[in-house]
Amino acid sequence: MQRAVFRVPAILSRIHPSRFFTATAAINMRVVEVPCRSDNYMYLLIDEATNKAAVIDPFDFKKITAAASKEKVDIGEQLITTHHHQDHAGGNVEFAKNYKGVEVYGGSEECAGLTKKVKHGDEFSVGQDIKVKAYATPCHTQDSICFFVEDKAKNQRGVFTGDTLFIGGCGRFFEGKPEEMHTALNKTLASLPDDTIVYCGHEYTKDNVKFGAHIAPDNAAVQKLKDFAEKNSVTTGIFTIGDEKKHNVFMSQGITAERVGELREQKNNFRG
Ligand SMILES: [Zn+2]
Repeated sequence: MQRAVFRVPAILSRIHPSRFFTATAAINMRVVEVPCRSDNYMYLLIDEATNKAAVIDPFDFKKITAAASKEKVDIGEQLITTHHHQDHAGGNVEFAKNYKGVEVYGGSEECAGLTKKVKHGDEFSVGQDIKVKAYATPCHTQDSICFFVEDKAKNQRGVFTGDTLFIGGCGRFFEGKPEEMHTALNKTLASLPDDTIVYCGHEYTKDNVKFGAHIAPDNAAVQKLKDFAEKNSVTTGIFTIGDEKKHNVFMSQGITAERVGELREQKNNFRG
């Protein structure tokens, strides 16, 4: 699922996969980020074996369908919602009107168009090779679910974190307490394999890392992320859970719930 490998046009990989990839780099799972609004991300989670894709937080129906036709993948069976906020779930009803029978997964009935409520530990598949597992991470909203996705045969994994974990930061605690965000970040998400790629709900990295550098000025990993964010407008789908443990001040070694709460308060008032 590394960007450099998977940006080869899908059509080429389907015609002559062996010409473009070594055995270890063969594709089965692929993720395409589709920016919308000013800083939101929608995603296509593509099972290359069947050419089927689940859509994640498809707020903008026109943009997500255009992305699916550009990638030449079939959508319309599965829609995954990270949480009920309008800028994530607000396209669900229009999507379901256009794709009758689509299964709409989410953590609560508050997610527009929900047909399949998921709870912590629930599992389902996308296409042939992708297994999805729900990790409840209540705090930003009580229905926030992080969706861990894995292609075991190809040893690839990622996690869609919605507004719980951002690159170098975390979401606001609209419906939860510091203890809940601490658990979400430093227990639940930290328990995923370190090589799990993070796909977050917003491009907030530049601001997050400015705050990170203010809190941890001597942290080399934070400086490295700061440089990256200054040079690149897209930072999702690149960093891993292992990277977050190094450059995300909300996930620093031995952090307490109280400190997570203090940092969030400071971040809310931080003007860089
Ligand atoms: Zn939100």
